[in-house]
Amino acid sequence: MSGLGKGITMASIGRILKNRGYEVVPIKIDPYINIDAGTMNPYQHGEVYVLGDGTEVDLDLGHYERFMDVELSREHNITTGVVYSSVIERERRGEYLGQTVQIIPHVTDEIKARIRRVADKSDADICLVEIGGTVGDIESMPFLEAVRQMHCEEHENDFILVHLTLVPLTTLGEPKTKPTQHSVKALRELGLQPDIIVCRCREALGEAVKRKIAMFCNVKPEAVISAPDTDDIYEVPLLLEREGIATHIMDKLQLESLRDDRHWMEMIERSRAAGNNGKRIRVAIVGKYTGLEDSYLSIKEAMKHAATETGCKVEPKWIEAEDLEANVNLEEIFADVHGILVPGGFGTRGAEGKMKAIEYARVNKIPFLGLCFGFQLAVIEAARHIAGLVDANSSEVAETPHPVIALQEEQIGVRDKGATMRLGDYEVFIRGGTLAERVYGKKKIVERHRHRYEVNPEYIDIIERDEVVFSGTDRSGLRMEIMEIEEHPFFFATQFHPEFKSRPGKPSPPFKAFVEACMRNKNDRI
Ligand code: GLN
Repeated sequence: MSGLGKGITMASIGRILKNRGYEVVPIKIDPYINIDAGTMNPYQHGEVYVLGDGTEVDLDLGHYERFMDVELSREHNITTGVVYSSVIERERRGEYLGQTVQIIPHVTDEIKARIRRVADKSDADICLVEIGGTVGDIESMPFLEAVRQMHCEEHENDFILVHLTLVPLTTLGEPKTKPTQHSVKALRELGLQPDIIVCRCREALGEAVKRKIAMFCNVKPEAVISAPDTDDIYEVPLLLEREGIATHIMDKLQLESLRDDRHWMEMIERSRAAGNNGKRIRVAIVGKYTGLEDSYLSIKEAMKHAATETGCKVEPKWIEAEDLEANVNLEEIFADVHGILVPGGFGTRGAEGKMKAIEYARVNKIPFLGLCFGFQLAVIEAARHIAGLVDANSSEVAETPHPVIALQEEQIGVRDKGATMRLGDYEVFIRGGTLAERVYGKKKIVERHRHRYEVNPEYIDIIERDEVVFSGTDRSGLRMEIMEIEEHPFFFATQFHPEFKSRPGKPSPPFKAFVEACMRNKNDRI
C-alpha cells in the first residue's frame, strides 16, 4: 500500500548498485488515470516534483534523482493515463489494423515497450521499475501482467522481483506476518513469485519471523529483508546493505562488484557528525500545507543537504500562513527561529500571512529565503512598503490597481490546467557584484521552474530602487528570476525552485547560503 516507502526502497537499491559501479535507470509506474501529477492536490499525494524537461511527477522521482544522482525526464514516469491515451490514439489512427484492441496484449505490450525503450535509450546496466499501488488493486493489474510477461521473455538472470510488504505489530508488540503471506499469495496468483521480500516494520525482524515469512512465501530466509523505520532516509541504503540485500541482487543477476564507491557513506558520516556536534538551527517554514510535511519534501531535503555540508542540523518549524493573518504577536512566533523560508504556493489563502512573515524578516534582518510564490510575495511586499504602492498585489491573489505580479502574456487565455505553466529548466543570468553572484559563484545557471505568474515588466523600475535588486533574469532581461535586498544579512528570493536540483553531498547554492546565514544569525545572538 502507499506510504510504506516503496520509492525510498527502490531509490536505495539503485544507490547500492551504483556504489558497486553499475549505472542504473529508474522508472516509476503510477497506476492512476492522471497523465501526470501536475493537477494533483499536494495534500493527497505530497509535493508535485518537477523534472528538468518540465514534467510534473510524483515525489518518488525526487527520491530517485537524489539517491541515484540521475536526471530524469517524462519517459521515466508511466501512468495508466499515459498508456491508455497512447493506445487509444494508435487505435484511432488505425494502427491496430482492424484488431479488437484489448488490455492483453495491446495495453500490456505498450507498457513493456515503454519500459524497454527507456532502458535501451539509457546507458544503464540495470533498469529499476517501481510499480505503485497495491497488489490486488484493479488499477495495477495490467502493469503486473506486463511484468509477468517480461519475466518469461527475458533471461532468468536478467530479472529480479522485489516485493515490499508491511509487517505490523500487535498492541503487545508482536510482529504479524499474515499481511505479507496474503500479499505474496495474491502476487503468486498473478504468476509472480518474489525473489526478495522487503518487510517494512517498526523494528528489525527477528530470525524466527524471517524464517516464517520465508517458509510461507517460498523464498530463502536470507531473502527476507527487514527495513525498520529510520529517522534519516539516507541511511536506508546502509540499512538494506547490512541486511544483505545486495548479495541477493548481485547473485541473481550474476553481477560482480566493479567498484566500492564510498561517497554516500562519507556523506552519512558527515551528516551524523553534524547531528552530534550540537549545532542546530531552526527555520520557520511559512506555508499552506503545513499539516502534511510531504508537500514541502524537496525543501526539507534541500535544507538537510545544506546543513550536512555546513556542519549543523536544521529543524523546521512549520507555520500555517493563515494563522499569521489574525492579530498575532509575530515577535513571539519567530522568537526561536534563525531564518524564515516562504515556499511556493497557489491562490489567495494564506498570501497575506506569508507577506507578514516576509516583512518581519526584512525589517528585523532575519535571514530569508523565498521560493517561487515566496519570491512573488517578497516583490509585492517590497512594492507596498518600499516603493509605496500600498495596494500592490498579484492578479492571482486579488483585484488590484497595481498588479506587480501578473499573468504572462502567453498564459492569458490558456484554459487547460495540466502542464500549462512555465515548467522545468530555464537559464538564469546573474548580475555581477550581487549576492546572487556570490551565492552561485557564476553568471549563468540553470534551475527548474513551475509558475504561471511573474513580475510585471511595467513595475520593474518602480520596485527596483533603494535597496531592492533584481539580480537574476532570463536571457531577455525582462523576466525577473532573483530578487535580493541590500543592507540585509541575507534576503534572497527566486522565481525558480532551487530545491529540485539539490542533492545529498551537493547542496543547492541558495539553500547552502541560507543555512550559513541562519548559522551566523544564531552565533550573533549568543
Ligand atoms: N502561484 C504562482 C504562479 O503560478 C507561484 C507558483 C509556485 O509557487 N509554484 O506563478
